[in-house]
Amino acid sequence: MSAIDALPPLSEVIRAHGLVAQKRLGQNFLLDLNLTARIARAAGDLRGCDVLEVGPGPGGLTRGLLAMGARRVVVVEKDPRCLPALAEIAGACPGRLEVIEGDALNFDAGAHLRGPVKVVANLPYNVGTELLVRWLTPDEWPPFWESLTLMFQREVADRIVAKPGGKAYGRLALLAQWRCDARIVLTLPPEAFVPAPKVHSAVVHLTRLDAPRYPADAAVLSRVVAAAFNQRRKMLRSALRGLAPDIETHLRAAGLTPTDRAETVSLAGFCALARQLGGERGFSAKG
Ligand code: SAM
Repeated sequence: MSAIDALPPLSEVIRAHGLVAQKRLGQNFLLDLNLTARIARAAGDLRGCDVLEVGPGPGGLTRGLLAMGARRVVVVEKDPRCLPALAEIAGACPGRLEVIEGDALNFDAGAHLRGPVKVVANLPYNVGTELLVRWLTPDEWPPFWESLTLMFQREVADRIVAKPGGKAYGRLALLAQWRCDARIVLTLPPEAFVPAPKVHSAVVHLTRLDAPRYPADAAVLSRVVAAAFNQRRKMLRSALRGLAPDIETHLRAAGLTPTDRAETVSLAGFCALARQLGGERGFSAKG
């Protein structure tokens, strides 16, 4: 039996350290180690990689990542009550687990991680989308990570992998799919967590592309997509009117139909429009 397998069951750890779940920290724990092992496996081969895990809680997923052979696992946890439980795991894997107490929104990845890096987390719902957007929009591409394997509420996961034509399709889908392959690899019912949340959850696996799927300036694309989906029920010619004089001409030049709505425009279409507008004198990506 390995030192990780010899650690006490998670329900015992939670009891011993008084880890009553706190809603304000988005605490819904996974106590089934078979399940956390499945999530760790969904991240692919971890050997030779540093892994960043946000919000390890009592450490169920952390154990899975270490058991899968990650070179090092760096965890960032905001709740100091979890630290003794995480210290026990660190003791079972000398030199392989670094525990950082703090807010993941202030974490400096460059200071703690060495490539190749994979990010794997059962994210707290209150900061999950914000962290994803930050990881997808670094100043420079490629980013510090090779892949993201992240648990979200099902509805957020659907928005990340959505294709044109439905309500789920919008900024998050375009942001994710412009520079990544994104797919749902696992879905989980509320009962998988303690306490059980009201909604289903899903794990999304995103693999970064070396270069964007279609050329476009990131800031221009972001402004075009934001304007289009801020008024998603309007036709493109009205929703985008503020972006440039004679927007209809630009839409047509990009191969788009001015009376279409944002929801029906493909990623390739938005990139074509961003290129068209980016070349326009006087167009500012800042808005
Ligand atoms: N990984 C554990 C599991 O799967 O059982 C816990 C997941 S729970 C959904 C989210 C975790 O993120 C909690 O442990 C919570 O304390 C932590 N957390 C919440 N906000 C955080 C933040 N801003 N930075 C770091 N950790 C945070």
